[in-house]
Amino acid sequence: MEEKKKGGISVETEHIFPIIKKWLYSEKEIFLREIVSNASDAVTKLRRLASLGKYEADGVPYRIDVSFSRSLKTLTVTDNGIGMTEEELEKYICNMALSGALEFIQKYEGEKEAEGSGIIGHFGLGFYSAFMVADTVEVVTASYEGTPAVHFTCTEDGSYEIDGEATHSRGTSVIMHLNEDGEEYLEGAKLREILDKYCAFMPVEIFLTDEDKEEDASSDGEKSAPAPINDITPLWQKKASEITDEEYNEFYTKVFREYSEPIFHLHLNADYPLCFKGIIYFPKLKENYESLEGKVKLFYNQVFVAENIKEVLPEYLLMLRGVLDCPELPLNVSRSYLQNSAYVAKLSRYIAKKVADKLAKMAKNEREHYEEIWKDVKTFAEYAAVCEKSFYDQAKDGLLLTLSDGKRVTVSEAVEAAGEKKTLYYATDAVLQAQYISMYTARGATVFVADSLLDERFFQMLEQYESVKFIRVDADTDALRDGDATEERNEHLDELFKAFGKEGKELSVKQECFADTTVPAVLTVSEESRRMEEMMRMYAPDMPSMPTEATLILNTASPVIKGLADGRFGDKEKEVAKYVCSLALLSHRALDAEEMKEFLSDSYALLSGLL
Ligand code: ADP
Repeated sequence: MEEKKKGGISVETEHIFPIIKKWLYSEKEIFLREIVSNASDAVTKLRRLASLGKYEADGVPYRIDVSFSRSLKTLTVTDNGIGMTEEELEKYICNMALSGALEFIQKYEGEKEAEGSGIIGHFGLGFYSAFMVADTVEVVTASYEGTPAVHFTCTEDGSYEIDGEATHSRGTSVIMHLNEDGEEYLEGAKLREILDKYCAFMPVEIFLTDEDKEEDASSDGEKSAPAPINDITPLWQKKASEITDEEYNEFYTKVFREYSEPIFHLHLNADYPLCFKGIIYFPKLKENYESLEGKVKLFYNQVFVAENIKEVLPEYLLMLRGVLDCPELPLNVSRSYLQNSAYVAKLSRYIAKKVADKLAKMAKNEREHYEEIWKDVKTFAEYAAVCEKSFYDQAKDGLLLTLSDGKRVTVSEAVEAAGEKKTLYYATDAVLQAQYISMYTARGATVFVADSLLDERFFQMLEQYESVKFIRVDADTDALRDGDATEERNEHLDELFKAFGKEGKELSVKQECFADTTVPAVLTVSEESRRMEEMMRMYAPDMPSMPTEATLILNTASPVIKGLADGRFGDKEKEVAKYVCSLALLSHRALDAEEMKEFLSDSYALLSGLL
């Protein structure tokens, strides 16, 4: 019989376990991720040796078994990976991990805000996280090299024992004797939940078994062959060309428990200088904006690390959902690490660029479809462009503007439509501004629609980057004039209409000859003064704002205005002029209660006058 090796790892180790427990209490469940990922790593290492020809595979499928026994109060994780020789066990589990632990204590003891999971991984304490839930942990392991199996037992107080009295086929079993805190992990459902969270895409098949029932707990008690609980080849590991849209959508539903289809997806596969794979989804916006909160799940070699990591995406793209597998990030990433990592900053820029490219590509290659989905993409694309110039530059060809007839054009097409004058007309309210819109479109001018504040902000951004000028349809009448007409000012008209100013002020009146003869007059407010007023209202909503002066433009081509100029309305001319003003106001903005009452009674009087 081989002699037992006994050890007690110096005084310091006594401090390790209480500290591990203290730091990690809130994330107790990660012990399972640590132990199962060690098992998965062990298989990956053996696979690598086999691929290098240094190990001849025996054809037995690689697997990890997570089994529990309520009667024995044990939770066991078994793998058929690389295993450990006695020396390796001593080196990796007894010494290395513990020296890491000591370093950990020296560095972090007393630092309250340090993040537990980050430290544990950083110092190679993964194995010892088992002591959050167990008072004794046994390891039985046999190396692929064929050396005898070794049995290691370590207790909570830091003392361990190694003996050679063990049988184990190639691989390792970690047997955790659960303490009171750990008893909750003797539930199949609980284990399943944790495994689903962290191990759903691990690269080795994982089976969950209730030893007391001696039946597979993962197949819901059915008699069929036990199924692994995980998917070892998640979609992001496959080639985009081999994946159908349905598969992308199914994966989305499965991972995000979201049943509305995403608008589009982006399969990322970067080698250099960044090395990661992933799928980014553009979610369908819900009315209640619930999905504004995006979700990016971060993986490390198919092991779930964390989700809702804000740092991996620029703030303006946070509504995106997706999975990212970044083998270059440590398994245990802490928030402070992510915030300060140059790698993460690069990752975020890379993803933003890919999203921008995708928009431009869709606009170019599948324009019809893209125009259809634009209503769902628009808010975020515009917001991103407004927030970040580089996003605008990259996505420019994929940013669309909507015209009053519902058609959509790209930024370049819009700039082209602006012509030499570099002027573009727009409407913010298709109903209220209907008359102006139809006057412009009748003249062949293009009218763009801005139906949100963001649209307006987007237009202002285009003014800045594309040197165009956006003018609201009720701000200017240049495009409406009949170019051939000579405009003569009629003094009588001026006098007649000036009188309709408010609060004792004269109304500002102009006379122009429009190509359209039907409209007698329109009201305009210059683009600058309107924007100024809007800005004032936005920043100081409580301040009484100076009402912007509107100018009444009389259309000298209209028969009504001509009639007024010639005095043909006789003693009714004031009544008619007032009515013309009211009509101009009506198509300019919503009337207030007083104005509405007055307008209606004037209309009734006018009708009675026809009798
Ligand atoms: P880390 O995984 O961060 O290196 P751990 O404390 O979890 O730290 O493990 C220490 C080492 O022990 C591992 O690097 C590995 O060499 C070895 N080890 C742990 N679990 C296993 C296992 N199931 N099979 C083979 N080796 C293992």
